This record gives sequence, C-alpha cells and structure tokens, in this order.
Amino acid sequence: MTDTSRWSRRTKAVHSGIRRSQYGEISEAIFLTQAFTYPTAEAAEARFIESQDDEFIYARYGNPTLAMFEDRMAALEGAEAGFACASGMAAVNGALMSLVKAGDHIVSSRALFGSCLYILEDILRRFGVEVTLVDGRDLDAWQSAIRPDTKMVFLESISNPVLEIIDLPKVAEMAHAVGALVVVDNVFATPTYSYAIDAGADLVVYSTTKHVDGQGRCLGGIILGPKEIVRGPVEAYMKHTGGAMSPFTAWVMLKSLDTLDLRVNAQCDAAEALAEGLAVHPKLSRVIYPGHASHPQADLAAKLCKRGGTVLAIEAEGGKDAAFRMLNALEIFTISNNFADSKSIVTHPATTTHQRLTEDQRAILGISDGVIRVSCGLEDPADLLADLEAGLAQA
Ligand SMILES: *Cc1c(COP(=O)(O)O)cnc(C)c1O
Repeated sequence: MTDTSRWSRRTKAVHSGIRRSQYGEISEAIFLTQAFTYPTAEAAEARFIESQDDEFIYARYGNPTLAMFEDRMAALEGAEAGFACASGMAAVNGALMSLVKAGDHIVSSRALFGSCLYILEDILRRFGVEVTLVDGRDLDAWQSAIRPDTKMVFLESISNPVLEIIDLPKVAEMAHAVGALVVVDNVFATPTYSYAIDAGADLVVYSTTKHVDGQGRCLGGIILGPKEIVRGPVEAYMKHTGGAMSPFTAWVMLKSLDTLDLRVNAQCDAAEALAEGLAVHPKLSRVIYPGHASHPQADLAAKLCKRGGTVLAIEAEGGKDAAFRMLNALEIFTISNNFADSKSIVTHPATTTHQRLTEDQRAILGISDGVIRVSCGLEDPADLLADLEAGLAQA
C-alpha cells in the first residue's frame, strides 16, 4: 500500500486505505458478504490461527470495505489502527468496556453525551468500576480526582451542547503521570480538525453518524488508537459482542469521506458567519462559539483547534417560550436532535436531548431553558442568518 503519511488530511480523506480488487474499480467496492471462503481446509486452519492484514473470516470480525474505512480514518487521525462500529455508542461502549474491569477507577468530565453518561454511571458502576465525574474545564478538579490507581480518563474534547473546551494536553499529562489511558470522544472537534492525538489522547472515538456521514443516512462509529490496543483488547471485545459496522454503512462512510473536508469547512464558514452575525442581538443573552472572540475559552480553543467547528449555541433571552416561538418560525433550519448534517438543524436541549437530567444537573452544565443548539449545514450562510433573524423576531 502507498505510504500516505506525507499527504494533507484533505488528500488522505480521498485516497488513504484504498484496496482495489482485480477489476481495478475507481470507487471503493462494497463487499456485502457475511463470511469468506478458503481454497483448502489447511488454508481455513491457517487463517483461524492467525489472519494477515488482507485476510478475512466473518463480517463481525472484519471485511475489506470496513478495512478501507478503518485505515482511512486511522490515516486522517494519525492513529495506527481503527475498529469500525455499528454506531458511535457501540464505539464508546467498546472503548470503555474492553479496557476496564471491576475495581478500576475512571475519571471523566461530566458534560457528556447522555448515553456516554449512562455507560459510566449505570453500566460500569453496576460492574464494580468506580467513576468520578469532574467539571472538565477545571484543571484542579482533574488533578484531585486522578489517583495513582486511576486506569482511564474519559472526556469529550468539546462538550455538547454548550461547547466547553477541555485543556486536553494538560489533562493527558496528568493522566499519563499515573499511567492512565486517555480516551477522547471527539465528535465536536471533527476528524478534519482533530488535535486529539497530538494533545495526548491514547484512543479517539467518533460517532461517524455526525460529520463523516454528515448527510443523515447511516449510524456509525470508530475507535482509533495504537495497534496494540485496537487490534488487541478492543477488537477482541467488539468481534465477540457483535458491534461491528455493516459493510454497506462502511461504504457510505467511505464515499462521504471524499467530501468531508469540503463539507466541514463550508459548515465552519457558516458557523463563523452566524456567530458573528448574532454576536450582539437584543433577543439573545448568549452566543457560544469556540471560534469567536467572545467564547470564555477563546484562547484555548484557538491554541488547540484550527477552526471553531460546525455548531454554535445561542440562548434566547425569554427562556423556553421565546426559544419555542423562534424554533417554530424557522423555515430553513429543521428541528431535530441530530447535528453535523448537511441540513441545518436546531435543537432545544432542555426539553429533548437533556430532558432526562434534573433542573440542577442542567444548571451545572449551563443548559438553561433558553439554550438552542444550532448545527450549521451546507446551505448559503446568508440564508441561514436571515432565517435565524426572522425566527428571533418572533422570539
Ligand atoms: C452522537 C454522539 C454519540 C453517539 O453516537 P451515535 O452514532 O448516535 O451512537 C456519542 N458521543 C457524542 C459526543 C455524540 O455527539
């Protein structure tokens, strides 16, 4: 295979990891097959003892279309290996469950995607794993929570929905000082602008449902990291518990990677334009965007990430009623709980994605009744701004 390491991410996203069949097809082939065959009984025996890179056994273990997607994502991230999963949550679950056991201690930021919090607080605790949750922005809190016996640190590099930035290089340094693994759920940073591995992450997890597909079709996830871990305990856990991505999905994801760089940059352009356009607005008490000077951690965001991302959060002055009036008046933005889609999306976290939390928990996370998450798609930013302004006029 060609060494693609000197290419930029944009080029890697189109070419890395490609495996062509004997037909020399230009577009990645989809191998929609459950199992693989062997010319002889001896060949089958040999493959079960140890399969080589381009040898496959069963789609739950691996498949050529998945291998292309895994290698391409690993190349983009600067990781040695990847394991593609059925969803982002299959990936988070795989990264956590394959690497800890009863009695271990995990420290995690508390501003997490709801299902991640469920795995940490309900499932892992049920199996005797001790979990300490901290305010991810507070380096002193990390320092006092991380103990000599801490096995893992888990965090979202940029949190949902109010876009708090974690100082990953500092947290990783504290974790590594006690030999803990650093696992980063990296959705909001995007694979295009990821800094996770440079900043010290050991494993990087994506929901590829988000920017990678980015067109509202397939659920997917991936675990990226050192070969020793990904092809070791992670692969063993994933292949025996059935969380593999389907070959069809892997093919959709591969075709999506061709345009990832273009889409993410256009979506960042839109987010920047909206953050700037709404920065001073009489109906808004806050506009939160990591790429805007008004973000409380703008310096840290600029140091870590080349761009501010595709999502911003705004807070309607008049709380839930004002937020709902605005959402209902929008014509281009659609109301959904998803984000990072080519279609722009608005979400009211307090009543949907974060409804399960108590009012106190939401207050701690900064999710007031006026907060609206704004995910920028591929429409013309000027149209998007006009739509939000028209909506705000009703707020
Ligand atoms: C969406 C998301 C997930 C879950 O991904 P699915 O593909 O929906 O399973 C996990 N973490 C973060 C940060 C997400 O945004």
